[in-house]
Amino acid sequence: MNTSEFNMDSKIQIDDRLIVDDNHNENYTNNSIFRGIPSSPGIAYGYAFVIKPETVVIPTETIEKSKINEELEKFESAKNELISEYYLALRKVQFESKNIHAVIETNILIISDPYLINGIKKRIQSCYTAESSIIQEFDAQKQNLQNSNDFLLRERAIELDNIKERIIEILRKKKIKRDILPGKLVVSKYVTPTDVVNFRDSKISAIITELGGISSHSSILARAYQIPEIIGVKNATEVIKENDFIIADGYKGLVIINPDKETLNEYEILKSKEKAYRKRLGKLISLPSETKDKHRIFLKTNINVQGDLETTLLLSTDGIGLVRTEILLSNMDKFPDEEEQYQWYKHIAEQIYPNPVTFRVFDIGSDKEAPGMPHKETNPALGFRGIRFLLYRKDILKTQFRAILLASETRNVSVMLPMITSVKEIIKSREIFEECKNQLKDEGKIFDNNCPFGVMIETPAAAIQSKVFSNYANFFSIGTNDLTQYTLAADRTNELVSDVFDSFHPAVLKLIKMTIDAAREANIPVSICGELAGHLAATSILIGMGVTELSVSPTSFLELKKRTREIKFSEAVKFADEILKCQTHDEVRKLLALN
Ligand code: PEP
Ligand code: MG
Repeated sequence: MNTSEFNMDSKIQIDDRLIVDDNHNENYTNNSIFRGIPSSPGIAYGYAFVIKPETVVIPTETIEKSKINEELEKFESAKNELISEYYLALRKVQFESKNIHAVIETNILIISDPYLINGIKKRIQSCYTAESSIIQEFDAQKQNLQNSNDFLLRERAIELDNIKERIIEILRKKKIKRDILPGKLVVSKYVTPTDVVNFRDSKISAIITELGGISSHSSILARAYQIPEIIGVKNATEVIKENDFIIADGYKGLVIINPDKETLNEYEILKSKEKAYRKRLGKLISLPSETKDKHRIFLKTNINVQGDLETTLLLSTDGIGLVRTEILLSNMDKFPDEEEQYQWYKHIAEQIYPNPVTFRVFDIGSDKEAPGMPHKETNPALGFRGIRFLLYRKDILKTQFRAILLASETRNVSVMLPMITSVKEIIKSREIFEECKNQLKDEGKIFDNNCPFGVMIETPAAAIQSKVFSNYANFFSIGTNDLTQYTLAADRTNELVSDVFDSFHPAVLKLIKMTIDAAREANIPVSICGELAGHLAATSILIGMGVTELSVSPTSFLELKKRTREIKFSEAVKFADEILKCQTHDEVRKLLALN
């Protein structure tokens, strides 16, 4: 399968004149385009189903003392009804992944929180109606979370809003129109995780909301169910009318109301390409990444070109094991500044959330040219490459560290160093990393102070020193391309030595094993992100050697998943032992039945 067949870079040009930015217009014209945040990829078009939000009263309505018990009971029964609604949703998803359960369970925890419940009850006891008390207490708690420095707590504030709106609806005994016809595009102020489960059952085709966070629970579920979703579309429930014909573009975060023929045609083409692509991916996408005997292997993708992110999102991977950030530099005659880099890193981190992403700092030099390289080298692969260049141009490294740290607010970001050969390089880079953190702290910026700091093992020196390196790194990622090149002294780009360049060479395999053992001993994660990770003949050897994470290009992902699911871990361990006893690469290849 070739993922490049499906390319989201459509011809569709968004004419800025048509974009209604503040969404205040009531008299939109045909083909009006509204921008939101893309939170689940995919394209849908059809008729809108608008869920009008409840008007929430000013929360100061009071009651006579004699009515307190009645209001307490009203609250109690609305709360219990909401909890039952969540349990019903839990039953519906009982055979689905733990992630999905966790999302709904968290909502049960929030609404069962004694602190929240007591707060509401106290307000009722001070003679406020149940409705006013709920709104006051939720808003007070939301205020605290919103003021937090913590991204996840601020996102939790959005969750609180969703739960508040839903419990008010229950209290007012408003039945949400749940009998939505298949194919409708739901437009709502907010959606709860339970709504998303129900929407999936109703086979709606997209979700558009006014509120929501990219990492909110309902967004996570929309991504899990592959329902295109666009959040943060201001006043969507006012500007979009019931049965308006709309297009939802979950890649770009656009909603197009009453599109003209040409725009619709382009989206029809895009949609049919997407459909064909998803069909080819088949069932494998939703199956777990594990061996036959249920040994979990984390399968991730490498981002090698800009379009790889969209493909990754469609593949439902365990995250992104390697972003080759140098792709940002292509066609640029200068290094992108902090803001430009931050926007890109943040976009990737948010889109893949809650799964993790690892950004490798610029690996330039050798065959990867870049602005600012001092001179042409006669032997560039052994020259001023990767971390060597970055430690010479500390300004570039600092800017990049700062941009990555700023994007780490979502707490799913790691950073990684390329071309390491000595502890000194790790220590120096880490010092700069810590310096950047301190600067950002002084500036009052928010980032993940525990952002994992990893090292690529792609030189023989690094593999041999991996035990020592494990004291300075939070994780390893083995780059088998360079590890092979440097171990066998065979240029990876020179076809004259392509027969020498062989990642199945016993020397390379032994260095990989040495690294895996060092990581296991130090209890730090180790992954493989070089080409060998995607070589299906290598899968059982690598898993058998103890690796638990493989990261490959999106094009190889599903084949790798299929292969992983065919392997028995217990047999793979024995097979890897046997392979490691081979003395030549011919012997290895013979055992693997390779030519
Ligand atoms: C590697 O060397 O295996 C690797 C993943 O890095 P790159 O191919 O970008 O050098
Ligand atoms: Mg490399």
